[in-house]
Amino acid sequence: MANKLISMFLHELSRKISQNWPVKVDGEEYEKLVRERFNTQCPYCSCDLTNTESVIEHLDGMNRYRAGLHVPGNVLVACRRCNSEKRRDDSLRVLSLARSGWESFLSHDGTRCATPCRTCRYWESIWNDGTERRLRLSENLQRIRSFRSAFPEFEQVIPSLMETHPALLRKLYSDCQTFAEMEIKSLLERVDPVPNPQ
Ligand SMILES: [Zn+2]
Ligand SMILES: [Zn+2]
Repeated sequence: MANKLISMFLHELSRKISQNWPVKVDGEEYEKLVRERFNTQCPYCSCDLTNTESVIEHLDGMNRYRAGLHVPGNVLVACRRCNSEKRRDDSLRVLSLARSGWESFLSHDGTRCATPCRTCRYWESIWNDGTERRLRLSENLQRIRSFRSAFPEFEQVIPSLMETHPALLRKLYSDCQTFAEMEIKSLLERVDPVPNPQ
């Protein structure tokens, strides 16, 4: 529930922040831009999305740790598999391999984790050869970086968001948890478990 609230807040904030940007995230122009830039391929594993199940993907995840927004430059289309594999890094409070969730996801080239983790093994299952794997991961990292730089409005707001949002979202999350716990407790106190005899 607290996570749902965070996502609602980030969606509202996204609308507010991007309302005057030249490209609209839900418009045809943006969709075309993404398709052309990534050749209808998954931005992470490069699989062809024409015949693969694909989903809307947020580079910076829309959760309390990554504080991502639904705005041009952060929204892409990815294969469902990568989208769910990426959640592992996205749900970590502190990232060790990179500053952002998507960079972290693409950093598991098998050499940087003390012992290869599940994400390292995921990439290994896609590119078995270590040299090819490192090359493809770094190419995809670069492609996404250059895609993001095509949205200067987005790049401009990132530093201040990174500065203020995590603390704000942590507060929203814990306030929501506290509120829910209190409400449940008070409702439980009002409910009489033993029906009154007539
Ligand atoms: Zn993929
Ligand atoms: Zn790893």
